[in-house]
Amino acid sequence: MSAPIVFSGIQPTGRKHLGNYIGAIRQYVESQDRGDPAIFCIVDLHAISVAYNPAELRERLYDTTAILLAAGLDPARCLLFRQSDVREHTELTWLLSAVTSHGDLNRMTQFKDKSAKQQLVSAALFFYPVLQAADVLAYKATEVPVGEDQRQHIELMREIARRFNERFGEALVEPEHRIPALGARIMDLQEPERKMSTTAGTEAGTVLVLDEPGAISKKFGSAVTDSGREVRRGDDKPGITNLIDIYAVARAVDPAEVEREFEGAGYGDFKKAVAEATVELLAPVRERYAELRPDEAALEAILAGGAEKARAIAAGTLAEVRDRMGFGST
Ligand code: ATP
Ligand code: MG
Repeated sequence: MSAPIVFSGIQPTGRKHLGNYIGAIRQYVESQDRGDPAIFCIVDLHAISVAYNPAELRERLYDTTAILLAAGLDPARCLLFRQSDVREHTELTWLLSAVTSHGDLNRMTQFKDKSAKQQLVSAALFFYPVLQAADVLAYKATEVPVGEDQRQHIELMREIARRFNERFGEALVEPEHRIPALGARIMDLQEPERKMSTTAGTEAGTVLVLDEPGAISKKFGSAVTDSGREVRRGDDKPGITNLIDIYAVARAVDPAEVEREFEGAGYGDFKKAVAEATVELLAPVRERYAELRPDEAALEAILAGGAEKARAIAAGTLAEVRDRMGFGST
């Protein structure tokens, strides 16, 4: 079997959290050795779909770049670039909108969730999955490492590729999602029915990759659990289930093993252990980040190098799509 073409995007909101790290970033790092190429994009064009500040966007973009590098992305083994540097993404978005069903966009649960929280519900928020489809299809990616919340968007981009190929001839590739078996949906520690989120979660319930050990301990210490006393997973125990999953990922063990390890232990002790494991998981990233973040020229150089390589691939796909769709001279 040939090597997969891996692609994934992450928003430059800077406040990347434990859910992003476990559900997505960890997988990016791991896929560098399998993907040929492995392509990672900081999706700044997506970030404007909700209220934002332009100067802050630039800062957060560097923050996110430095977090990804600190976590282990290596520009020698992957392409890392800024979405807005590769204009092919936006042109392809418009072209693909012709084979995107309005009804499908209307069904996206993320749009429903996010729009409920916005003062201005931008057309960008509604249209975002088409841009996301263009991001992935521009590289003919075969594998997209994401968290569980992106399942529906990946299904939509498969449908867009299918419809394009049917109507204009085989040019695009239907990508497969790669959702981790464990940790694909880390929940907010304060509201364990909702996913941990960069823009929509509670502050106390969101563990940031860059949080100091003290802040991490405090957040786990006040995590919402339940009135029971057993450390075991269950639909009626979303808080404890989430903590078990986090501990299992951080210690690289099976959740069932975690239940055995903490049989008879109180919630307080268990929370302390989860905090400690999380501190150990994130500390190397935070330390490396502190070294990398100040050198913005170096970060820019990495992004520029990535963009150049990305553009070369995306331009080829776009030329093919334009031609199939009847644009340009014959
Ligand atoms: P927002 O809530 O504003 O959409 P986000 O936290 O989802 O922000 P993104 O940059 O949109 O951050 O997502 C980056 C990646 O992290 C995606 O692959 C997404 O599926 C994954 N991800 C996001 N939240 C979680 C979570 N709570 N658990 C596991 N994976 C997650
Ligand atoms: Mg998201």
